[in-house]
Amino acid sequence: MNIHEYQAKQILSDYGIPVPVGKLASTVEEAKQCAQMLERNAWVLKAQIHAGGRGQAGGVHVVDSFSKISEVSHQLLGTRLVTKQTGVKGLPVNSVWIEETVELKREFYLSLLVERVSEKLVFIASEAGGMDIETVAIESPEKILSIEVNPIVGLQPYQCRRVAYALSLKGEQIRMMERIMRGMYQVFIEKDASQIEINPLVEAENDALLALDAKITFDDNALSGHSDILALRDREQEDINENKAQGFGLNYITLSGNIGCMVNGAGLAMATMDLVKLKGGEPANFLDVGGEATAARVTEAFKIILSDEQVKAILVNIFGGIVQCDMIAEGLIIAIQEVKMTIPIVVRLEGTNAELGQQLLNNSGLSVIAAEDLETAAIKVVEYAGGL
Ligand code: GDP
Ligand code: MN
Repeated sequence: MNIHEYQAKQILSDYGIPVPVGKLASTVEEAKQCAQMLERNAWVLKAQIHAGGRGQAGGVHVVDSFSKISEVSHQLLGTRLVTKQTGVKGLPVNSVWIEETVELKREFYLSLLVERVSEKLVFIASEAGGMDIETVAIESPEKILSIEVNPIVGLQPYQCRRVAYALSLKGEQIRMMERIMRGMYQVFIEKDASQIEINPLVEAENDALLALDAKITFDDNALSGHSDILALRDREQEDINENKAQGFGLNYITLSGNIGCMVNGAGLAMATMDLVKLKGGEPANFLDVGGEATAARVTEAFKIILSDEQVKAILVNIFGGIVQCDMIAEGLIIAIQEVKMTIPIVVRLEGTNAELGQQLLNNSGLSVIAAEDLETAAIKVVEYAGGL
């Protein structure tokens, strides 16, 4: 789960990390009041969405008058902001964060995440902050320092100093860096985060270090133990279909292709997507309907898949283990009739009573394309989607 920048800054600040002073507004009127309360001559106005890349997309503005506060907040609020990280539809700007401006000398990058391969936590630091870390990694990898932290031993002071020296920090700044890294580490462990990114972490004119931007992602599997974090959830920033699917207990993730996939079992769903790609197609989604592929669930699953306008054909790949294929076929028939399917649908049934299931589909009068095996199914669906 992601949260907004202003929420992430509040958490970091609670753990002793310095952040600029700011206020949240969701109307133009509030924006003006916030600016007034901050008692400054200039402010930074930042669109709050669950994505980065706002600076380059017109979501971050430095303004020096109340009329500009009105103008920019009017221009941003209620629109959708498209950045490199949002996809073409963008994300809704329902609030803006108004902050004191910071005169800065240098911009750094600092993040903490899980490194799966080494099974450790890793701090990534760079003197080239403020921009895409991916670009820095490609163009000047020597500017990226990574420090592995063994979770059993925890973060060590010398590791903080290494980061501080790499960024050429001096005196008090070195202690400040240690405090910032400790705070990040503590948030990470206590709140079950999966990533904390401060980009940029800046060196202000007075040499102080400040988190000018903040992003925290939490481990979804641990959320049930963190009601305080769950309370920060903003569903309007999340994928509508993914949320809808969650409500029906379906495991659904939106992807960018045009082949809708409906599969039971996460492993089989992954294998199906692999095969579709291998045959030259692009999956529009990952969908695991779970062990219980009943008519009701399958109907909801079809509705969700079909609400994606990109989908040109659907591949149903069901393995009847505990649930028998004839029952699955009956469910599919009801579901296909109910959603009034207008695009080609390729079905592969395997397992208990597979033949009976296939017969039911063939005799249903519906234009369902049967496939004997998974490979044929993948080839056919790619063909129908216009991929080959
Ligand atoms: P992102 O583009 O979504 O990651 O948004 P950021 O919060 O990182 O803002 C983008 C850039 O705006 C930063 O890298 C800074 O260069 C600049 N910026 C943001 N706030 C201030 C500020 O108070 N003063 C100055 N000088 N620059 C700022
Ligand atoms: Mn940033």
